Formats: sequence, structure tokens, C-alpha cells
Amino acid sequence: MSHNAESTAFRSALEVIRAVEPRVADAIGAELTDQRESLKLIASENYASPATLLAMGNWFSDKYAEGTVGRRFYAGCQNVDTVEALAAEHARELFGAPHAYVQPHSGIDANLVAFWAVLADRVESPALKKAQVRQVNDLTEADWFALRRELGNQRMLGMSLDAGGHLTHGFRPNISGKMFDQRSYGTDPATGLIDYDRVAEAAREFKPLILVGGYSAYPRKVNFRILREIADSVGATFMVDMAHFAGLVAGKVFTGDFDPVPHAHIVTTTTHKSLRGPRGGMVLCQPELADQVDRGCPMVLGGPLPHVMAAKAVALAEARRPDFADYAQRIVDNAQALAEGLLRRGAKLVTGGTDNHLVLIDVSGYGLTGRQAEQALLDSGIVTNRNSVPQDPNGAWYTSGIRIGTPALTTRGLGTAEMDQTAELIHTVLTQTTAGANADGTPSKAKYTLDADLADKIARQATDLLAPHPLYPAIDLA
Ligand code: PLP
Repeated sequence: MSHNAESTAFRSALEVIRAVEPRVADAIGAELTDQRESLKLIASENYASPATLLAMGNWFSDKYAEGTVGRRFYAGCQNVDTVEALAAEHARELFGAPHAYVQPHSGIDANLVAFWAVLADRVESPALKKAQVRQVNDLTEADWFALRRELGNQRMLGMSLDAGGHLTHGFRPNISGKMFDQRSYGTDPATGLIDYDRVAEAAREFKPLILVGGYSAYPRKVNFRILREIADSVGATFMVDMAHFAGLVAGKVFTGDFDPVPHAHIVTTTTHKSLRGPRGGMVLCQPELADQVDRGCPMVLGGPLPHVMAAKAVALAEARRPDFADYAQRIVDNAQALAEGLLRRGAKLVTGGTDNHLVLIDVSGYGLTGRQAEQALLDSGIVTNRNSVPQDPNGAWYTSGIRIGTPALTTRGLGTAEMDQTAELIHTVLTQTTAGANADGTPSKAKYTLDADLADKIARQATDLLAPHPLYPAIDLA
């Protein structure tokens, strides 16, 4: 691939856009500059390859393709069939999954598809059976009432939000918390680790239909073999949301008990985090759930996005190359180097370290809330996000934590030595930031002071750290 081809492709695209709405072209160009200059430590973000990005910017976007490969509700879907089948094949091969459904538009959508599939598969409902075999007209009002009551009266057990679970695992701000009667399992207050005996106890008491594994902010491996045994012991379906760590599964860093695919009945993921693909979602499942999963559109999803499925096929093909395994290992090496650098400087980390792609700093050790720390770091050119820590006294808005992750910086080529320097920058900002006060003298959870010269100096050091590792080196828009 010549440097020229990528530059020409993106330059030409911008020229075409500029002729219609120059402000959009300018914003796209400015976004590249901003991303190139910022030390991106957001654990859920990454940089997709130019091939993946280009696969999205074309006329596949114009095509409607409801249905599945070879069985569409629209004519003329032969090329969409090609890319959807390719993406699914790459996904099955990469993850060793019997079935892959690549239509979900995002991780939340993938979870909705999974919830529907499990409900439809597991809930004993004669009315639902009739509805599934398209005898919908034979259903009486009483059938519909029974169906709604049965489907809407099921239980889910997932990881609590402050321990690192995700909103879609049964929490009220998401529809899952309204659909399901939810209970959560947390982590051991002393170690911050999942206590599998407590999960088993909660499962025995609550008897969920679905046991959910997976997280957004838990910095450790999860033993999916044990969770499956717990699910089996109470007759629950075991679902894993691997949105965050799919890249580590793809890159064979998480194997055996830590690979969810052989253990779960159904696995959902995003494609844009550690997996480094386009923004989107995906569901992998055992054969018995495949038919229900394939009903994702139109059951809970809008029409599939063929341009994004094309990009998923490209990104999954990339993830099947041997160098992706090396990338995945470097993500973890970098996260561990970052954790060690922070610990050595006196930071307090949830669970005392990491064995995945993310580190959760408990910034109460610096006398700050997550909100204050996030803003002070941003002032200093370091992009992170605030996050609750277990039993967080500051709630989900202000929080007491900062979540940092290494997938994006690893894509740029930064290594363990740079992670130690990054730890130094973060620690300096957090030690030099002081919590502010409200007008009435009470402590503020949002206000803070940080010397502007120091923030500028750190931002310059962050840029220096990035300079030898340019983002999209082959792309020159000048
Ligand atoms: N599941 C988990 C575990 C996540 O961390 C996220 C996003 O942060 C999602 C689902 C939702 O993904 P999306 O933003 O693509 O809907």
C-alpha cells in the first residue's frame, strides 16, 4: 500500500465534500488534527484502519437489506449478501463461534438482540409460539396479555454498575432495567475482585433467566468457565458482553477459562473498541439461538447498515492476521506498564493493577472527584473519562475514579517506556490539582484549580510523547 493511495483517497473525499458543505470537510480535517494531537486514554476508543474507514464511505450506505443473507425483503441485495456473509465468516473463524450475526448497529443494539433471542427461546409461552410461527391472527387478547406478562416478568443477574458493569445489563436508565427484574453481583470490597461464591449465592437466591458476564470498567480477567457453571446450576442462560475486551479474545490473549465464546450460550460485542473495527455491534451464539438472533432486524433493529458490515468484514479480516495477536498482547503489556508506573508513584488503583486493557484510578487518593480529575487531565492534553469505583461515595455523575485504557495508544505504536512517561504526566497533573469550594465554602465536586502554565507544559510533553508515533502516518491532507 503506497502512502500516496491513502492520502489521495482521503484528500479526494474531502474535496468532494468541500464542494457541497465546506464546514463538514473542515470539521473532518480538524478532527484528524485533534485526534493526532491528543493523548487518547479512553478505554473504549481506538483508531480503525484506513481500509476499514474507506469501506464505510460509499454507496453501500444507500441500500436497504432487511432480512438475512439470501433471504431479503428487498431486491438487489447480492452485494450486501457478499459483505454480510464475509463479515460473519470472519467472525466465526476468528472467535471459533458456531454462529455470527453482524447486523447490530452498536453494542447496545447487540445486547437487545441477545435479550430478545433468549426471551423467545426460553420463555414457555404457547402464545409466543403461535406468534413465532406467524399465526399472529389466531392470538386472542388474552394470549397477547399473557405473552406480555410472561416476557416482561423475567430476571437478569449482571455485574453492578459501580463494580464495572454496563447500563445495558439491567439498569434503569436503559430499557433492560425496565424489561427485566434485575439484581447485581458486585466485587469483594477488600480486593475489588469478583467473588464467584457470592455470584453463585445470588444466582441460587434469585434464579435469573439470564446471567450476564462482561463489563465496561473491571480491570481484571473474568473466569467464564466458573460463571457458566453457576448459570447451569440454576438453569440460566449465560450471556457475555465482551464489548470492551473482544480484541483480547480475538488476539488470543484471553484463552481457556477467560475466553467467553466456548463457555457462553450467547456473546455480544462492539466492533470499535479493542477489536479496532468500525462503530458497530455483533452477536455470536450457539446454534440453538441462531434463528432467534437472526430475527434481530426487524424485531429490535432498524435496517442493516451494509457499508458498516463491509467495514466489519475488512476489520475482522485484519484481526485474523498474525500481527493482531501481537497488537493484543501489547495492549495488555502497556496497560500493565501504565498501572505499575502509577502504583510506583503512589496512585491508588482499583484491584491494585490490571490484567486487561484498562486501569481504574481511585482519585480520592489525590483528594479529587472523578469529574475534577477528568477536567484537569483534559486541560493538560490527556483525554480520559471519569468512572465510578466500587461503592463510590460520589455517585455516577461526579464519581471517584478515572478509567484509562491502552488500545488507542497501542495502535499508534507507543510502548511500555512511553506508558511509564504517561504515568508520570497523569500523576503530576493529579498531585498538582486541588479541589475547589462552592460560594458558600462547602467542598465542590466539580471545581478545581490547576496552574495553567503547568497544564500547558504537560500538554506539550504529551505531544512530544506522541510525535514519534504519528496517527495515520500515511495520510497527509495538506
Ligand atoms: N456493552 C459494554 C460492555 C460497553 O462498554 C458498551 C459501551 O461503552 C456497550 C455495550 C454499548 O456500546 P455502544 O456504545 O456501541 O452501543
